[in-house]
Amino acid sequence: MEGDVIAFVGPDEEAQRYVEQRRQQPIQIIDARGKLAAPGLIDPHTHAVYAGHREFEFSMRLRGAAYMDILRAGGGILQTTQQTRLATEEELREQTEKRLDRFLAHGVTTIEAKSGYGLNIDAELKQLAVAHALNETHPVEVIPTFMGAHAVPPEYGGDTDAYVQHIIEEMLPAVSNQGIAEFCDVFCEEHVFTLEQSRRILEAGKRYGLKPKLHADEIAVTGGGAELAAELGAVSADHLLNASSEGIRRMAERGVIAVLLPGTAFFLMKRPADARAIIDAGVPVALATDCNPGSSPTESLPFVMSLACLTMGMTPAEAIAACTINAAHAVGRANRIGSLEAGKRADIVLFDAPNPEYLVSHYAVNLADTVIKKGRPVIRGGVRQRR
Ligand SMILES: [Zn+2]
Repeated sequence: MEGDVIAFVGPDEEAQRYVEQRRQQPIQIIDARGKLAAPGLIDPHTHAVYAGHREFEFSMRLRGAAYMDILRAGGGILQTTQQTRLATEEELREQTEKRLDRFLAHGVTTIEAKSGYGLNIDAELKQLAVAHALNETHPVEVIPTFMGAHAVPPEYGGDTDAYVQHIIEEMLPAVSNQGIAEFCDVFCEEHVFTLEQSRRILEAGKRYGLKPKLHADEIAVTGGGAELAAELGAVSADHLLNASSEGIRRMAERGVIAVLLPGTAFFLMKRPADARAIIDAGVPVALATDCNPGSSPTESLPFVMSLACLTMGMTPAEAIAACTINAAHAVGRANRIGSLEAGKRADIVLFDAPNPEYLVSHYAVNLADTVIKKGRPVIRGGVRQRR
């Protein structure tokens, strides 16, 4: 590495020669013998900027409660919305920073983070501002996505069309004016936002330069989400538990990435997406935690890799590609991160594992030993290094 960039990658003798030629420069050697060097992991789908927590829902679900029961008991997205609206920017920043610490400890050096717990202009902009500001103080890079269409806020009394109009006419201009968000995402789902409403929001987002992403075909079996992602040329379609084979075929044609979230299926005790069929159809698959307080409270992307193999039939090599180079494509950063190549940013993890199969099979423990972000070791021997 030179500065924050990978300068050279190659076999031992060539590396030796490379070092010899630079003897006059100060060189620091990190001994990685016995370890697995991987690109810093990238989590391309999180809702990590939120206030509060909702673990009481876990007990309710274990007793058999459905999502609608939880909503009626005052839980669900709208509870997090209430707490996120009430939190000051400082409180939101502090709570999110803890999650970023946990991501980093697990070898994750970049995450995407969606708004969508504000559901009004001020609170949505606050979430995006917090995501953006954390880049100044925390080693994990946070890529903000605007997701005002995550749920319909209670003040609209179920008038989804009116809220969609508000998103298009008022929220999107404000988000564009703030200039932080890179992507626009919609929870396209039966009883949430229809295909037509999702299309309108994402097309309006495009006009403001926000690249489309889509929560697609997660719950309802009526489908159409994958097809819409392809039609819009979305960067990614996420979840896809019930995507049709025609939709997957069209995603392959348009180069839409499938972001799969087996941790969410595991936590909700559901059958996960059919990763094997999606990969076999020629769609690149990325993996993500979906980190959020209700359906996937975790920052462990390595555990998601294990689940991808155990529950979706992916190979360890596919799981690692899905959390590195494919995930980099899913956040529009494949030219800068996601692989160990000269010229790319020096985001590197040394796992205490002799090979990829060991890393992915040794499940639910943290094997990240050294984490290097932009050429600087920020974790060594599992211990955070402060400047
Ligand atoms: Zn999500």
